[in-house]
Amino acid sequence: MPPSGVSSILPGMKALVLKEYGRFAVEEIAEPEPEAGEVVVRVRACGICGSDVHGMDGSTGRRIPPIVMGHEAAGEIARIGAGVTAWRPGDRVTFDSTVYCGECWYCRRGKVNLCENRRVLGVSCAEYRRQGAFAEFVTVPQRILYRLPENLGFEQAALVEAVAVAVHAVKRTPNLEEASAVVVGTGMIGMLVVQALRVTGCRQIIAIDLEESRLALAGRLGATHLLRAGDDGLAARIMELTDGRGADAAFEVVGVSSALGTATGCVRKGGSVTLVGNLQPRVELPLQLVVTRELSLLGACASAGEYPACLDLIAGGQINVTGLISAAAPLEEGAQWFARLHAGEKGLMKVVLKP
Ligand SMILES: [Zn+2]
Ligand SMILES: [Zn+2]
Repeated sequence: MPPSGVSSILPGMKALVLKEYGRFAVEEIAEPEPEAGEVVVRVRACGICGSDVHGMDGSTGRRIPPIVMGHEAAGEIARIGAGVTAWRPGDRVTFDSTVYCGECWYCRRGKVNLCENRRVLGVSCAEYRRQGAFAEFVTVPQRILYRLPENLGFEQAALVEAVAVAVHAVKRTPNLEEASAVVVGTGMIGMLVVQALRVTGCRQIIAIDLEESRLALAGRLGATHLLRAGDDGLAARIMELTDGRGADAAFEVVGVSSALGTATGCVRKGGSVTLVGNLQPRVELPLQLVVTRELSLLGACASAGEYPACLDLIAGGQINVTGLISAAAPLEEGAQWFARLHAGEKGLMKVVLKP
């Protein structure tokens, strides 16, 4: 959306534009106009998502430059389009990262994450281009808006998408009350799965990761046992903790063969493995183990209606996101934070940009 003859009559706004793969510039671009049923949100905080980091180098094909990325945001309504009656300028809001259509077979059944016409803010691919929230303003349809609880800050609210992903994955998984669950991979989403499991009433939450510092944080956030991935006695230790049966459920929050192997190998017969991570498009599956032990494999993608509950969980302190924010930085520092995240800098969790 570069300034053109037509749009130059509009006031400009600052945006972090992915100019070409791997290169950003903070530029003045045209301020968006709300169409009927849409609002313009003044963005106060927008988190950098792993999908943005993987998208910036072209590896996913879903951030074709030039594009303003960013879909994990919160702010205040600045302007409203025709036909918007439930919202007013000044309202503090966040919005679903997915623009779902509200009309297809899935949307009518509340499965908006599976919408046939799903578009993600800040994504440009072969089918569409939708500018995102690493900018002073972003336009979104009113049906995806959520009001912020009064005591909830914008930076915390910007993490609701990640919380909703974790809560959705936990909701997909049966029989977790008083259960034992294993979380393989304690990155951003894994940390939130740990917390969502605790809220659900899981008795035993076993976190597995390669990094000691992450495990320590998982422990502070509610994991009851911390195990290092790759340690020799890992499987035996989990058996020991679960009366020799294995855990009732496991969550794979990485998306690589070794993590899936760990997850399927540590649940009891008849247990479930919920698949959240998808770093690699294909992984090795221990087929015989899954079949003969009657495991349930469950995919979990994005979220479907969990935002309001998640906003309350964050505002009420049951889910701690503040401890997961590594930095809150101005838009101008966006390029360097993207570079650090892309390099996989240790200890970095969520970085929030503040336009
Ligand atoms: Zn995201
Ligand atoms: Zn739909």
